[in-house]
Order: sequence, then C-alpha cells, then structure tokens
Amino acid sequence: MVDVTEQRQAREKLEQTVSLLRATFDSITDGVLVVSKEQRLTAYNKRFQQLWEFPDDALQGAPDTQKSLEIALAQVKDPERFSARIREMYSDPDMEGVDIVELRNGRVFERTSMPQRLGSTIIGRIWSYRDITEERRAREKLERAASVLRATFDSIGDGVIVVDTNQRLTAYNKRFQQLWGLPDDVLLVNMDVTKAVTAAAPLVKDPERFITRLHEMFVVSDQVYVDTVEFLDGRILERTSLPQRLGSTIIGRVWSYRDVTEERHAKAEQERLFAAEQNAREQMEESFALLDTFLNNAPIGLGFLGRDLRFIRTNDALAALHGKTREEEVGRELREMTPYAASTIEPLMRRVMETGEPVIGLDMALEVPATPGQLRYWRVSYYPVRMKSGKVVGVGAVVVELTQERLAQVERERLLREAHEAIRIRDDFLSIASHELKTPLTPIKLHLQRLEQRCAAGQPVPPQLAQKALTQVERLTGVISDMLDSSQIEAGLLELERERLSLQELIREVLADFRPRSLHHPLEYEEYGEELVVQGDRGRLQQVLTNLLENARKYSPQKGPIRVALTGKGAEAIVSVADSGIGIPADQQAHLFERFFRARNAPVSGFGGLGLGLYISRHLVERHGGRIWVESETGQGATFRFTLPVED
Ligand code: ADP
Repeated sequence: MVDVTEQRQAREKLEQTVSLLRATFDSITDGVLVVSKEQRLTAYNKRFQQLWEFPDDALQGAPDTQKSLEIALAQVKDPERFSARIREMYSDPDMEGVDIVELRNGRVFERTSMPQRLGSTIIGRIWSYRDITEERRAREKLERAASVLRATFDSIGDGVIVVDTNQRLTAYNKRFQQLWGLPDDVLLVNMDVTKAVTAAAPLVKDPERFITRLHEMFVVSDQVYVDTVEFLDGRILERTSLPQRLGSTIIGRVWSYRDVTEERHAKAEQERLFAAEQNAREQMEESFALLDTFLNNAPIGLGFLGRDLRFIRTNDALAALHGKTREEEVGRELREMTPYAASTIEPLMRRVMETGEPVIGLDMALEVPATPGQLRYWRVSYYPVRMKSGKVVGVGAVVVELTQERLAQVERERLLREAHEAIRIRDDFLSIASHELKTPLTPIKLHLQRLEQRCAAGQPVPPQLAQKALTQVERLTGVISDMLDSSQIEAGLLELERERLSLQELIREVLADFRPRSLHHPLEYEEYGEELVVQGDRGRLQQVLTNLLENARKYSPQKGPIRVALTGKGAEAIVSVADSGIGIPADQQAHLFERFFRARNAPVSGFGGLGLGLYISRHLVERHGGRIWVESETGQGATFRFTLPVED
C-alpha cells in the first residue's frame, strides 16, 4: 500500500492552484493566447474567445493555431500585416513587441507578444489582446479636441502665453511668437519666465517698467490687468493678464497681447483730425464772428449769395434796405427779397458767376421799401466768390449809398448856380446902375449948359428948359431913392407911417399925377362902388401903384392901354394894373419880386431899370398885410394885382 496522502495533498494543492490560475486567467481583461514552441495552442482564456468572437467550441480540440488564425484573419482590416507580424515574432523567440490590430468592424486591439519562459527556457509565446477601441476613440477625440484647441489657439489674433505658478512657461501660440518676433524653432515651453522676460525686454520702449510690471503680475492672484506695451519699432500692444484656473484653483496666469498699433494710430489720427476739425471750426467761427462784426458795423450794404442766388450772409445795412432783418433774409432768394430790382440785378450777378469777372461801381437810382416814395442813389459792385480751387461758388454784393452825396452835389450845384447868378446880377446891377445913373446926367448937363449960355448972353430962359432938366433930376432921384429903399429894406430899417385913408382917393391922386406922363398910353380906371378904407402909409402905397403904372407903360412899347381896377372882396381890397405889353415868360414869374431880378425878355438896352421896383412893392404890400402877384403870358401883356386889408 502506498501512502498517497502526500501525493494526493500535492495534487489537490496543484488543482487548487490551477483552478485559481484558470479563474485568474479567465478573469483578466486581456484576451490571452499561449502558443507552444511547436506552434500548438497551449492555452487561451475566455476573454480571448470573446474578443475574437470565437464560438464556444471553435477551438475545442484544435491542436494547432491554424483555425484560430483563420478566424482572426477574417476579421482584421489588414490580414497581410497581421500575418507578417506573427511571422516576425515567431522568427525570433526572444522578441517582444506591441502593435495595433484594427478590425473590420471598427474595433481596435493592442497586441502584445512575448516569449513564454519556464525558468530561463523559452517554451512558447504568449499573445495578449487588449480591446482599446474605447480608449482609442477617447484619445482620438481628445486629440481632435486638442488639435482644434491648438488650431484655435494658433489662429486667434491675440498672442497668448500661459505661465504656471512656478513661473514656467506652459503654452504660447503662434501669434505670440510673431508678435515678439521669435523664430519658429525657439522652444519656450518650460522656460523660466524671468529669462524670457529679460530676453524680451530690449524690444520694448521702457524695459524697466515692462519688467517691473510683469513681476507684479506674476503674483498669484485673481487680479485682471490691462495695460499697453510700446515697442521700439513703434508697435503698441495691449496686454491683458488674467488668472488661469483649473476648477477653482489658480494654476497659472494667461497673458494675451493684442496689436493695437493700427487702432491706436487710427484713434490718434482720428483725434488729430477731430482736433484739427475742431480747431478749423473754431477758427472759422472766429473768422465768421469777425466777419459778422465787420459786416454788421459796416455803413455799407454787404451780402453773399450762393449760385442759386439765395442769401448766404447779409448785413443789417443791406437787409434794412430791403425792409427786412438779417435773419429774415438769410436763406431766401434775391428775387423774393428785392422783387422791384431783381430783373436788373439778377442778370448782372449771373454774369459775374459765369465770367468770374466783377462788376464794379455801377450807379443805380432806386426806390427801396425802407423809404417808399424817395428816389435814392446807390453805387453797387458784384464780385465773384471763389473757393481755393478757383471755383466760383457765389457772388458778393457791395452796396454804397450815394444819396447824401448826390443831394449835397445837387445842393452845391444849386448854390454854385446861385452864386453865379448873384455875380451876374451884381455885374448887371453895376452896369445897369451906372447906366441908369449916367443916362439922366447927359441931358441935365446939356440943359444946364444951354441955361448958362443964355444967362451969359442975357437972353431969356425958357421955363421948358429948366423943366426938362428937372425931369431928368427926378428920374435920377427915382433911381437913387429905389436904391436907398432897397438897402433900407435889407437892413430892416424902412419905416411906415400909417393913417386911415381911402383907396379910391389914393388911386385917383396917383392917376392924376401919372396921366400927364402917359400921354401915349390910354389910361382906364374901373372904380369900386363902396368906399374902401385902409390903414396905410400914403406915400408908400402911392409908390407901389406908381411903380406898377410906370412898368405897364415901360413894358408896353406898342403903346397899348393901361387898365386900372379897384374891387373889394370880403375883408380885402384888390387893386390891379393891366397892360397889353411884352408880358413875362412863365418860368420867370416866380422870381419877378426878387431884388435886382429882370426878366430875360426885358433887356436893359431896351427898357432900362434896376430890378428893384417890384421888390420894393412886394415888401411894402406885405408890410401892409397884403399880397402881390402877376398873371401874364409872353407877348400877351401882364396884370399885376395886390391886396390890402380893408377896415370895416
Ligand atoms: P425894373 O426897374 O427893371 O422895371 P421892376 O422891379 O419894376 O424893375 O421890374 C422887374 C422886372 O419885371 C422888369 O425888369 C421886367 O422884366 C418885369 N416887368 C415888370 N413889370 C412888367 C410888365 N408890366 N410887363 C412886362 N414885364 C414887366
């Protein structure tokens, strides 16, 4: 009897171990296939069967690997490579290797092949397959996501760099490299940031500040910083620094640099332009204010009109002429503002704009709304208004009023004429006065000589001789007393001696006195029925009537009749003396009663006279409260009338 207890115990132990191994073998997640040196299937586990989807009995009783290979080859994507790898592995028993097997159904296995050893002897080969489909997919997905992120990271316009809390560079993008001018092959990752900063500092304008700022920012904090970095080459980068987080932990800091050079330049340019525009506007406003001051205080009318002949600017003086205010006028058409003159002015302005030539100093006489009914005189000039380019954009009007000058000139001319007239009258007067004074002297002298001769010869002296001399003396006296009266009137010294007197009586006396001297002119008198009594100076009133009678006789060389009439009308007596002589031209009648005036149809050679009689008569009549006037036509005789207030 053999004690098999130990044997049995050993076998049981072995069985236990085998079953443990078997269970372990079947429970591992890799599919394992063990092949002997002779290429016979030694073992495989459940997972292997599952992975390759072998039917349960497929490998049962299959001593070689052929069948399993066939089943596998039918499933792999690249059977060639699959077999080649197997051959390669078997060619060298020591060889170990890992490769990837892709199946047609999309699954991916990681295949590990290693020698099976018993002690130091190689007794076979172990093939293990791990299904890495999910892992692979996850990795691919991750890689894709990472590549998208990377691409995004590299494609963004900002240069980004990430630094961990140990101040080591963890990532940066292409744009960062470009911005800092780093060659593609320079690897910054893992570099100490202090080194990188020191290397970059010379590129910027203020390196010291740049380094200090960066160090400030390296402090782990929640802080977000934004500032700008100016480069020596003129670029300006806007830098943003913010914490990098993983969940709620800060694991580093992200810096992003944005090139804002263009933006800043554009902004600066915009600000410059804005300032320039502002400046230009202020200057323009200043110029306009200045212009307005000049415009509005100018004593002349000034206005600017656009090509459409609307007022762009006008001053108070011009607007006032049109009867408008400046505000009313601006923006309105010339035609609307000056309807009375537009037909004259518009064509001129259009011509100025078309030819570019000014119209200067045009004289106009116009009635304007500001002063209706008054003709005023203007000198106007129109100038083309040009842009710097030379383009005519409108017309400027300058209107100077000449009315005052014109009136002054008219007045001056009138005064000059009067002065000439006065000189002429004085000269006439001198020559007439000399003539009038001298004329009686010659016959007086003759008469006196004849008287002397007769006396010397003891002959009798005929009274007519003395009478003739006396007549001439009277004529001389008349001339001299007219001159005296005239100067007394001028000096305001002529006195009147008034008394109650009957006009009928007075006229009769004068006519009786005059009749002998007017033998050649029939004298008619029409008396008034009622007694007309006046308060007057007898001698002076006789002088008035005598003067009218003498003129009627003197200026009637054809010796027509002289008609005297007296009438009463209300409180007035009217005395008239009419003749049928040379008459008086209409335009001379108004001046007839002026001192020294003589009508042009009464030359002194033909008629004599100083032009004082009517002047003295008017003065005397008016001093008596009456009026004197004439009605006449050239060649049709003249009727002089004067009135005197009568007493009840
Ligand atoms: P004179 O001494 O020249 O007559 P007057 O003052 O009496 O001066 O008259 C002024 C002028 O009036 C005269 O020179 C004459 O031209 C005109 N005149 C006066 N009376 C008559 C008249 N009856 N008929 C025409 N002209 C007259």
